Formats: sequence, structure tokens, C-alpha cells
Amino acid sequence: MELIKVQRGTQDILPEQSRRWQTVEDVMRGEAELNGFREIRTPVFEDTRLFQRSVGETTDVVQKEMYTFEDKGGRSVTLKPEGTAGAVRAFLEHGLYNGPAPVKLYYLTPCYRYEHAQAGRLREFHQFGVEMFGSAMPLADAALIAFAHSLFGRLYVKNLKLKINSIGCPVCRAEYTKALAAYFAERKDRLCETCRSRLERNPMRILDCKNPECAEIAAGAPHILDYLCDGCREHFEQVKTGLDSVGVGYEVDPTIVRGLDYYTRTVFEFVSDDLGAQSTVCGGGRYDGLVEQMGGRPTPALGFALGIERLLMIMEAQKVGFSEPAACELYFANIGDAARQEAFRLACALRESGVEAAFDETGRGLNAQMKYAGKIGAQFTVVLGDDELKTGAAKIKNMKTGETKKIDLKNDFAGQFAAISTEADDLSF
Ligand code: ATP
Ligand code: MG
Repeated sequence: MELIKVQRGTQDILPEQSRRWQTVEDVMRGEAELNGFREIRTPVFEDTRLFQRSVGETTDVVQKEMYTFEDKGGRSVTLKPEGTAGAVRAFLEHGLYNGPAPVKLYYLTPCYRYEHAQAGRLREFHQFGVEMFGSAMPLADAALIAFAHSLFGRLYVKNLKLKINSIGCPVCRAEYTKALAAYFAERKDRLCETCRSRLERNPMRILDCKNPECAEIAAGAPHILDYLCDGCREHFEQVKTGLDSVGVGYEVDPTIVRGLDYYTRTVFEFVSDDLGAQSTVCGGGRYDGLVEQMGGRPTPALGFALGIERLLMIMEAQKVGFSEPAACELYFANIGDAARQEAFRLACALRESGVEAAFDETGRGLNAQMKYAGKIGAQFTVVLGDDELKTGAAKIKNMKTGETKKIDLKNDFAGQFAAISTEADDLSF
């Protein structure tokens, strides 16, 4: 029979790999909580209009990449391509704005985009994202960027470049968009088809086009930084001052505009040379207009999202060490069915007290069981046979030192094991 394979652009995360995932997820949660963020979990699918309204009709994500389908009730639903839209919806739907400001949320979520699959570009990928509602202060932007920066530090990721820019507010951006449209209109013939349609609807999107010819034209386009209004200019200056004050290095890059429509003022990206073509591992910025655009009261907000697959690719390339997997602490080998029953009972008692214990679940012979204990790295073994059942006592062997000790099977087995294993730990220091 033909084996069914995993879908293009999706991948299985096998145990060896999922350990790494757990490690980075733990660090992310820890760092998020440390910065005052609390977890939010929103559904994987939402009303399609949510993403059309928030991410923006003219973005690549909405135009080309969404997993949209009709459910059996005839509703159009979409698998979340990013996390901000759902967080904003929940923020409004549950009145989180009534809580003390700022409201700080984080999430770990799968995302779905119909993309041309390649290394670092998947159709199902995962994001760690944070959103902060209710602060217009430039120091909030700096704090958010510093948070991402220290997260990478805690993960021992090196050589990331932080690029920042300001894309202004609707007022100054209107001026800029006019200048930009004029510039591109003069070079319209050389733009790709998508960009020609963007020219009318949202010329800033052209700056983000990955077509080489468009990118070349975009390189000579006017810079938004030259068009910022006083308020936006001052905001950007203070973000930079904030970053300087905590020693977070950055590069001002006026070509960074981000791929989603909702950004205002500060935008930033962390890029790595260890990612090949897909160089951005984390992107974010301010989106002061989004909450209002989604039907809420005007609420300044900002956030970032970090791609976990890309992060792990960098960590792999940089050979960041991960701790060894937890190994079985005690393996019970048995000779005969009655002894297996006893092994099962003792393993359950140990597990109840929090010890990783194992017994033979396959019915193989003693030699094969001992070989298995070696393969799973069991720290101690106990062999149970008729004699042990009769006397109610057995020998426990430290697999590293070869040393054996007597252990009572009937009285407080877990307590005795705890003492033996603590003593062994102390000796090995
Ligand atoms: P790109 O320019 O690479 O397409 P993007 O601007 O579309 O990225 P965002 O929407 O800002 O990306 O998403 C934030 C992060 O999520 C990215 O920096 C990246 O790490 C990750 N990411 C985005 N799309 C993918 C994908 N298709 N596969 C894997 N990771 C992704
Ligand atoms: Mg993209």
C-alpha cells in the first residue's frame, strides 16, 4: 500500500527535536512572564474577515497566502496566518481593555500560510508572539525590543542584526505615499504585475516585494524617514535613546516596512546570516491604528513575532548546546510473569513519587532487557525473579559504578530509592 506522506510545507517534530522545542518554549515563557506578559491562547481558525480587516487586503498574506475554506455551515473561515489579529479580537471581545493598562499578552501558536515551501519557509510554522496594548510611549517600543534582544541572549543566539525604522503615522505617511507613488509610476514598466496593482492601492507594499527587479527599483525609492512629521520623528528619536540606554545595538534601515498593513511608527526586524535566503527571524512594531480599525476605542499597541523554526535553524547552525534528555532512573528487569507483575507494581509506585521508572513491556528475555536498559541509559537496575519475590528483597545496581546495594521490596521502596539515588548524586560531584 502507498504510504501517505506529510503535507508539503509541514513537518513532524520527532522526540529528539521536540526536546529542543520544549527548551526554547520554556525560555520564551519564562522571559515573557519576567517582562510582565501573560499567555493568551486563541483558536487556530477564525472568521476570514478578521484577517482581511487587520492584516490588510493588499498584503501578500491576505492576497496569496491564506488557508481559507468554507465550513459545512457555509461560513468562510481561515487558519490563522499570524497571531496579532486573534489577540486583538479577543482583547475587544472580552473587554480586556477594562483591565489595568498596559495589557500584555504572549502566545506560542502554529500559523498557516500557503507559501512556496523551502528551508525556513513553511506552510505550517510556529510563532512566539507578544502584544502590548495601551502604551503610546517610545520607551514601550524600546522595552519590547530589549525583551526580544535579551530572549536571544538567553538562548545563546549570536550575530543577530537588529534593524529598526519608523514608517510614520497616517498623516505623514500620506505625504510619503504620494512621493513613493510618483517614483514608482515613472518606473512602472519594470515592476512585476502584482506591484503594478499595488501602485494604485498601496505603493508601500512594493518596498517589500521579493521580486529582484522590484527590489532593485525599491532600493532607489524615497525614504520614509525624510517625511516623518515632528511627532513621529520625536518618537523615533526616543526609541533610539531608550535602546542606547540599555546597550541594545541597532542599525536604522529605512527599507524595512514589514509585510502587514497595520504597522505605524516603529518597525523592527532581527536578521541572521545563518538563515540563507529567509534572513528574518523576528519582526514587529507599533500598530496604533489597529484596535480602532477593528472596532475598538483608539488604543496604542505594539508587538513582535518570532518564528520558532527559523530560530532553531540558527541555533543549529551556531551549534548551541541543548541539555541531555531525561533518562530512565530505574529499570526493573524480570524473569517470569509473576516477577513482571511485581515490577509493574514497583514502577507505578516510583512514578507516583516522581521517579522515571520502567519495566519490561515487551515480554523479552533477561539479556535483551538488560541491553534495552543500557540503550535507554537507565541509571539503576533491579532484577526480579522467583528468589526476590520469595524473600521480598532484591539488589539494586548503579549502572555507572557497577556498585550494588540491597533494597527491600515491601517497605517504602520509593523512599529507599530516593536515599540511594541522592547518595549516588552526591558522590559523583
Ligand atoms: P518573510 O519576509 O520571511 O516572508 P514575514 O514578514 O512574512 O516574513 P512575519 O509575518 O513578520 O513574517 O512573521 C514573523 C516571523 O514568523 C518571521 O520573522 C519568521 O521568523 C516567521 N515566519 C513567517 N512566515 C514564515 C513561514 N512561511 N515559514 C516559517 N517561518 C515564517
Ligand atoms: Mg511572508
